[in-house]
Amino acid sequence: MFSRRFIAIFLFACTLFAQPADKLFSQTNPDWTTPFPPHRIIGNVYYVGSKDLAAFLITTPQGHILINSNLATSAPQIRKSVEQLGFRFSDIKILLISHAHLDHCVGSALIKQLTGAKYMVMDADVPEIEDGGKNDFQYSKSRDMFYPPAKVDRILHDGDEVRLGGVVLVAHLTAGHTKGCTTWTLKVADNGKVYNVVIVGSPNVNPGYKLVNNAQYPQIAQDYEHTFRTLKALPCDVFLGAHGSYYGMTEKFAQMKNGGANPFIDPEGYKSYVADRERAFQEELKRQQTKGAM
Ligand SMILES: [Zn+2]
Repeated sequence: MFSRRFIAIFLFACTLFAQPADKLFSQTNPDWTTPFPPHRIIGNVYYVGSKDLAAFLITTPQGHILINSNLATSAPQIRKSVEQLGFRFSDIKILLISHAHLDHCVGSALIKQLTGAKYMVMDADVPEIEDGGKNDFQYSKSRDMFYPPAKVDRILHDGDEVRLGGVVLVAHLTAGHTKGCTTWTLKVADNGKVYNVVIVGSPNVNPGYKLVNNAQYPQIAQDYEHTFRTLKALPCDVFLGAHGSYYGMTEKFAQMKNGGANPFIDPEGYKSYVADRERAFQEELKRQQTKGAM
């Protein structure tokens, strides 16, 4: 399809002409663009993201699934990580995302072009993805938050399965943070045991989000409430998420290098993370309701 040399030159050019948003955010969030050692998390699930922007490679005999394309400048970093693990970037057949915010999906147009992967996105995030963020309920007036549009090849709905080479990923709609925010689950075999893996989309209320009387997203608070019910009901052994910071990635990676039990198997960490995020949402909702009543 493309020669390695062509891909290398193309990726280098893309880095030179990076989106202004990439530059803006790499200054305010250096961890988003700082490389991080790629590593096997469990079974056929690998980490190929940066120090904070998570990207996961799920390998199968029929090609691979990539979750999150991250920033416009992330494609070379992700490709390098995939290759360091001994896999081929061009074997990525399916591209998925956590949600339609620029730190998880801007690289999609380029990764699609380079790999020919099929891009599959939750229904309510599709308008944002296909118009490059101009349709976002919160950021539609922030030009800095726009990104290159990408064509979605398959529109997903809550509970849909994505299958490849024996792997089954389930798309759970966990909306609020974006209208189509997606939490991914899969079962993974490792050392003769089967584990439930949960990749949290985002349960966070961003600064400036209106949870009350939001004309752009009237059901936002109900969607968050539904999200927390969903997250609490998911069986979880291996806790992962759209940002490494959700699940203590850097600390767990350091622990893993010391040997012993796999630190990514952390059902209690998952439960306390979800409880903490629900508390933060409830507090913010109460604050906005009280302010509105005064
Ligand atoms: Zn986000």
